Amino acid sequence: MTEKITVALAGNPNVGKTSIFNAITGSKQHVGNWPGVTVERKMGKRKHKDIEMQIVDLPGTYSLTAYSLDEIIARDFIIEEKPDIVVQVIDATNLERNLYLTTQLMELGTKLIIALNMTDLALAKGDSIEVQKMQEFLEVPVISTIGSRGGGIEDLLDSITEEIHRTRTNENVFVYDGEIEKSADELGNVLADDPYYSHYPSRWFSMKLLEGDENIIKKAKESGNYPQIRKILQRTDADSFEAKIADQRYKTIQTMLRQVCNINTDHLSGSDMVDRVVTNKYLGIPIFLSLMWAAFEVTFTFATPFMNIIDIFFGWLAETASDVITISWLASLVGDGMIAGVGSVLIFLPNILLLFFMISLMEDSGYMSRAAFIMDKVMSKIGLHGKSFIPLIMGFGCNVPAIMATRTIEDSRDRLITILIAPFVSCGARLPVYVLLAGAFFGRDAGIVIFGLYALGIFVALISAKLMRSTIVKGEDTPFIMELPSYKIPTLKGSILHMWERGKIYLKKAGGIILIGVVGIWLLASIPAPGSGGTFASEEIYGTTDSMIGFIGQIIEPLVAPLGFDWKIAVALMFGVVAKEIVVGSMGVLYGVGDNEDSLTEILAAGAMTPLAGLGLMVFTLLYVPCFACIGVIKRETGSWKWTVFQLLYGTGLAWIFAFVLYQVGSRIGLFA
Ligand code: GDP
Ligand code: MG
Repeated sequence: MTEKITVALAGNPNVGKTSIFNAITGSKQHVGNWPGVTVERKMGKRKHKDIEMQIVDLPGTYSLTAYSLDEIIARDFIIEEKPDIVVQVIDATNLERNLYLTTQLMELGTKLIIALNMTDLALAKGDSIEVQKMQEFLEVPVISTIGSRGGGIEDLLDSITEEIHRTRTNENVFVYDGEIEKSADELGNVLADDPYYSHYPSRWFSMKLLEGDENIIKKAKESGNYPQIRKILQRTDADSFEAKIADQRYKTIQTMLRQVCNINTDHLSGSDMVDRVVTNKYLGIPIFLSLMWAAFEVTFTFATPFMNIIDIFFGWLAETASDVITISWLASLVGDGMIAGVGSVLIFLPNILLLFFMISLMEDSGYMSRAAFIMDKVMSKIGLHGKSFIPLIMGFGCNVPAIMATRTIEDSRDRLITILIAPFVSCGARLPVYVLLAGAFFGRDAGIVIFGLYALGIFVALISAKLMRSTIVKGEDTPFIMELPSYKIPTLKGSILHMWERGKIYLKKAGGIILIGVVGIWLLASIPAPGSGGTFASEEIYGTTDSMIGFIGQIIEPLVAPLGFDWKIAVALMFGVVAKEIVVGSMGVLYGVGDNEDSLTEILAAGAMTPLAGLGLMVFTLLYVPCFACIGVIKRETGSWKWTVFQLLYGTGLAWIFAFVLYQVGSRIGLFA
């Protein structure tokens, strides 16, 4: 009979948990060279020696206190769901910091195995670690691994299967000084009297009470004998206890480290030298901006030949469809609706792939963490945490995971502000809109225009944070220590995988929500407007003001007319709320790309819109209502419709004002005329 067990992967952020998870389960979860990539737990399966393992990848945490949501998620999983084994992944190049978590995991009393990861980097640095001695000291199995290359995974699995049948508890390795131990014992006795606590590891619960952990104290308050607990706690000074406990944990760790490893300290690594330059006070930000700019230039320039190929393909497809399909409305649905709509979105696949290839190079090498580090100063000037910058950078891909990544932010007000400003970071879905319009109107300057839009997004996000900080979400600043991960040479495989992750999402969207969106638009463009008397899908009414979509468009047109947008743009923006790529898709349908020799870019450049209105449309697309998925996650993570609606109104208001000023002032002074 096969046995079923649950194995939880825990550890500090960025130590290689997800890499090991992927190596064990064969899945392809996102790994990133910065802290805070995994904020939700991920599950996977693996069978080894007749044991069926359910593997859980937990969010990275530095400790198991209740400082931030991700720490609570990790510890609640271990306490409430009681995995059979916890594997703590440790970064061998940063033992002290990592072992701090070990001390806490040991107190939880679960079976523990240590995966000593990044041993390749430790070796390269010249450190030597005696695994055997470490194992003896900690009394738990220690297995060397190289997560990114799958090294040591078999050993790890073997160790899990052995450990599962061994009875051993390592609850008491860390012994504190007399006063702490005495209070812990007393608390332990009180806890033992009440079955309410039988669910929790008693020693851990006592220690947490002594440390003054709010979340645990709240739990204790619900029990019958809380008065007794309070009596013991009142005698103690939680602040000094917390400090003492931490201090003693570090002392024990240092004692062990002296015995088990020899760390090469006089090695000024290449990494340190690079850091001196890229995090330099004066050079840091210019370097970051130049890299981002280069990324957009490359995205725009190198993608063009591939875009032309896709364009030719869809042109051919549309032609073939109209030749083959004889029923005229069906030909129109396929040609003018599906192919024109989805085609005008898919044409930007090369841009998406290239941009994310470059972003993943920056991520995987560890450079992006430096970017967050240099931004910390800027961020703290506006009263935000440097930690907020990580979710913002993740937003380049998609705002939804970015908003989820705010769970690593401890302070709830910081977190709220970060959620509210996250949608201003330009996500991948907006890129097609920029590439289309910048390509049509700004030709060779397209790269810089797109760079400008990304910069504008970040700028608006930062200014908004400052505004909110000083008005509606006041609060204290919290200090932030950013840990810089070591530089790693990005593997081609890793970067291609990231690029493909994004590409796949884009393709899936094109075949799903975007297809549905453009078919919806085609339908509305084919149904006669009330009272127009036309026939369904006839050429006379299709996509004109005599169609339903023209009818709707004209109703909402006055709202955007002062921005220089016509009814077609109004409709495109309306549908763009479903997914922002649909702005492009619906323009493809409405400007009649299907039966036209010219591409959408050519049609636009030929005068369907002025360059100024085009620029305004890009700015508007950047700032207005985020897509449905994003609205949903804002609601979920803030837990409040009030804040969600606030974000929508605020963003759309800003979008309108920016585009209005741009168009009105620009057309008076003859900008881009
Ligand atoms: P997590 O945050 O703990 O889930 O860490 P990830 O799995 O996302 O990995 C963080 C970074 O370390 C990624 O860039 C990985 O490719 C890299 N990495 C993971 N394990 C190793 C290892 O053993 N050696 C080296 N050199 N890099 C690793
Ligand atoms: Mg991870």
